[in-house]
Amino acid sequence: MEHKLPELPYAYNALEPYIDERTMKIHHTKHHQAYINNLNLALEKYPKLFKFDVHSLISNLPRLPGNIRNAVRNSGGGHSNHSLFWKIMRPAQRASRPEGLLKKVLSNNFGSFDSFREKFSQTALARFGSGWAWLSVTGSELVIEDTENQDSPLSRKRIPILGLDVWEHAYYLKYQNRRADYIEAWWNIVNWDQVEINLRSALK
Ligand code: MN
Repeated sequence: MEHKLPELPYAYNALEPYIDERTMKIHHTKHHQAYINNLNLALEKYPKLFKFDVHSLISNLPRLPGNIRNAVRNSGGGHSNHSLFWKIMRPAQRASRPEGLLKKVLSNNFGSFDSFREKFSQTALARFGSGWAWLSVTGSELVIEDTENQDSPLSRKRIPILGLDVWEHAYYLKYQNRRADYIEAWWNIVNWDQVEINLRSALK
């Protein structure tokens, strides 16, 4: 089975004004689609690998044939990362913050939600060049980390439950060089319910 572009769980303009419609459309239909096309192209050399979902492929890079490992790392990583990214966003809701288990776990690991948020923002801002900031689960702990290009925490045996794309293609049309403004705006559209679902599944 070829990998296919997942549908967005909302309209392209649903994240306005924080992420603009044009950026969302290009990001989803051009950038994400290109990662999928290139992943499929690489896997055509080893069709048996089509039976694995993309997350297991990038969790097991060392076991892949050497001549496609880098293509899967980059394009499979791009597919996996963006598939998570679309889901952990939603149209802005008033005063949306983590609740319940997620709130408790963030406080236990980072002191409070506000200090988690500050540390995550700093990590996203400090990521030099293209890459991602992540909140990942390792064992029973949560860590904030960043990766370069389309590398995934899954390749480090960690499970990402929240991720922020800081490639320029994610924000340049609206924010140009102002990555800090994009990061600040993005907090308004985080889908905390989905992050909690991701947390519960990662802790299983
Ligand atoms: Mn992207």
